[in-house]
Amino acid sequence: MTTTQRQKPVFRFAPSPNGPLHLGHALSAFLNQDMAAAANGRLLLRIEDIDQTRCTPDFEAGIYIDLEWLGIGWEKPVRRQSAHFTEYQAALRTLIERGLVYPSFLTRGEVKARVTASEAGGNPWPRDPDGSPHYPADDRDRSEGERQKMLASGLKHAWRLDMRRALQSLGCTLRWSETGDAQTGEIAADPSIWGDVVLSRSDAPSSYHLSVVIDDALQGVTHVVRGLDLFHATSVHRLLQALLGLPEPIYHHHRLVTDAAGRKLSKSEGHTGLAELRAKGLSAADIRHLVGL
Ligand code: GLU
Repeated sequence: MTTTQRQKPVFRFAPSPNGPLHLGHALSAFLNQDMAAAANGRLLLRIEDIDQTRCTPDFEAGIYIDLEWLGIGWEKPVRRQSAHFTEYQAALRTLIERGLVYPSFLTRGEVKARVTASEAGGNPWPRDPDGSPHYPADDRDRSEGERQKMLASGLKHAWRLDMRRALQSLGCTLRWSETGDAQTGEIAADPSIWGDVVLSRSDAPSSYHLSVVIDDALQGVTHVVRGLDLFHATSVHRLLQALLGLPEPIYHHHRLVTDAAGRKLSKSEGHTGLAELRAKGLSAADIRHLVGL
């Protein structure tokens, strides 16, 4: 990296190759490109493919084709998260050693049964901003001896952040700088709304939250431009950055492209897919127009 490169603002577009890109991705990619250009900054592309069951080489190839067609230019080499599992695991290990992460053994079905029983008894169960129930306290409160025994027995487990201990260990409140389309200014982070988030699963040696903060730091990202659907995730990202001593980017959460019913677009809705729109004869300029730029 040259000295000039080091001083420039760094933006990144970070799609997951688990489906074809749609208009929502186009808006994000255009905004990253436009904002990087306006700031005389650099634009990186990161392939977020930690979920090896849903991500495929075909979807990844589609991302490069779609972005080139849109006229997006990015620096090479592209960082692919699946090539960096050891880095995420190393960060996870430091958190385990500090007693901030614990192995959790309950299956999804067991958690669901617990939540249903509690709610049937008239006791509402806390849920995260995506609507998923917080993980019960069972595993968090286990003794170290019991944990080691369960791990040694080969039980499937995920590693979760002990939210209470993590927040106590910081002893200060967290904020982030936001320039996006909803709230702007200094936003108070509230990671506790997520409960004990998963940082690594039995079938994926990292999680979105852990990988994204490590990559943003390693790649020197100064500006995170992404959809408003990830606004609340930023609270967890700020917490992980503080725990791991990572720098804090500026965040810009942009409006989402919605369908006729006002719902966020999903990768299964072909009619808004960029490849399909290209096949219909639309141009990159048409796509810009369609996403309201
Ligand atoms: N990989 C995420 C997605 O495709 C985006 C992550 C981010 O920009 O922080 O939704």
